[in-house]
Amino acid sequence: MKTVKDYIRTIADFPHEGILFRDVTTLFADARGFRMAVDQMLHPWAGERIDKIVGLEARGFILGGAIAHQLSKGFVPIRKKGKLPGQTISQAYKLEYGEAVMEMHEDAIQPGEKVLIVDDLLATGGTSQAGVQLIERAGGEIVGCSFIVDLPELGGRKLLESLGMQVSVLCE
Ligand code: 5GP
Repeated sequence: MKTVKDYIRTIADFPHEGILFRDVTTLFADARGFRMAVDQMLHPWAGERIDKIVGLEARGFILGGAIAHQLSKGFVPIRKKGKLPGQTISQAYKLEYGEAVMEMHEDAIQPGEKVLIVDDLLATGGTSQAGVQLIERAGGEIVGCSFIVDLPELGGRKLLESLGMQVSVLCE
């Protein structure tokens, strides 16, 4: 029986030389693989109250949409700066070189709502940390953060755990 990891391919030198990119499109394209990933991402949170799923741009939208539908809950996108049409709150975060900004609609999460954060891959944790900050600034309470892949050598899991987050990953 194939595992989720078996459906993910690694592409060398993308988007830059020296980077081994984990390509999850091969997982998404496979009916069994995609179903398995969504089910396994939800498993640790069974029985928890969850009001909203937040997906991080861009592959977090694909997973987050499927998970929100499965739970019959709402979906909220966190996007790169300038993409959301309504009033937003912004959060800067560090990249390897320089800085980037993530945004969320200011009315997307209500105070006290329980939120699950979803993305395909956890590397340095910078993107997810920005997501955590945006949700907490809106008054949301984060139940956990769910990823398919963790790259532990980049420290993202440790960073999120140091912020008090429960983190679930399916493979490394
Ligand atoms: P971080 O902010 O944790 O350093 O990077 C994670 C973000 O970058 C995620 O939104 C993820 O989609 C993207 N990312 C970084 N490296 C990879 C990779 O090798 N494969 C995929 N699919 N996404 C990556």
